[in-house]
Amino acid sequence: DTVLALQGIAKTYNVGLPSQVEVLRGVDLSVDAGEIVALVAPSGAGKSTLLHIAGLLDTPDTGTVTLAGQNLTGQSDRRRTLARRADVGFIYQFHHLLPEFSALENIVLPQLSNGVTKGEARARGLMLLDKVGVAPRAHHRPAELSGGEQQRVAFCRALANGPRLLLADEPTGNLDPATSDQVFDTLMTLVRDTGLSALIATHNLELAARMDRTLRLDAGRLSTA
Ligand code: ADP
Ligand code: ADP
Repeated sequence: DTVLALQGIAKTYNVGLPSQVEVLRGVDLSVDAGEIVALVAPSGAGKSTLLHIAGLLDTPDTGTVTLAGQNLTGQSDRRRTLARRADVGFIYQFHHLLPEFSALENIVLPQLSNGVTKGEARARGLMLLDKVGVAPRAHHRPAELSGGEQQRVAFCRALANGPRLLLADEPTGNLDPATSDQVFDTLMTLVRDTGLSALIATHNLELAARMDRTLRLDAGRLSTA
């Protein structure tokens, strides 16, 4: 069962005619159900562009994007947004939690905009926080949490609406090495427990080695490591 399939993806940016930056060319990639795939790329290789195309935030010039069995190539923004909300969770190097809301509220809010009742959203939020060991901090604001705790809450928010695919860009890149290791363990356990598929970009080859498979992106071309 394939959760994400990219075929023949190409993307070029026009940076003021006649200059063009060819960012991705001929990228084929697939992620199976329950699979955790590492994406290793030097800076400028096109990693962010690839993750944004996979997460339906950006469109390729050519190629097809199939998510959870739905071919979303050329679909309207509305359909792509609905598919993104239903099936994709995003994690970044920085937590991007809303500062004026508690950890729990940060996980509840995306569920409310997805039509879940407050009671159900809170129950799911607490269940997720418990899984990552941050339940005792549920009512604290992000600024009152450690860097590792903030990232753990961001993981819970990404999973709030039960996505099929997790896209992560250097999810522990902002943490010191010891914390990074622990928080990465938490992420792997969370993904395995929920049966999610994940595409996780990292510069850290030790972290990549703990995933199921590594893909390397170099100057816009993908290869197996
Ligand atoms: P990475 O995440 O691997 O560092 P990006 O996907 O962000 O790489 O960018 C790849 C290349 O595309 C870089 O050369 C970058 O400058 C260029 N690029 C990215 N976004 C744009 C844009 N909106 N307009 C023009 N060039 C861009
Ligand atoms: P809503 O309107 O319900 O807040 P959106 O449709 O705007 O949600 O976004 C759905 C998902 O895509 C959310 O997880 C959101 O964090 C993510 N997202 C939306 N826009 C961006 C963006 N520009 N960069 C990264 N993630 C984004």
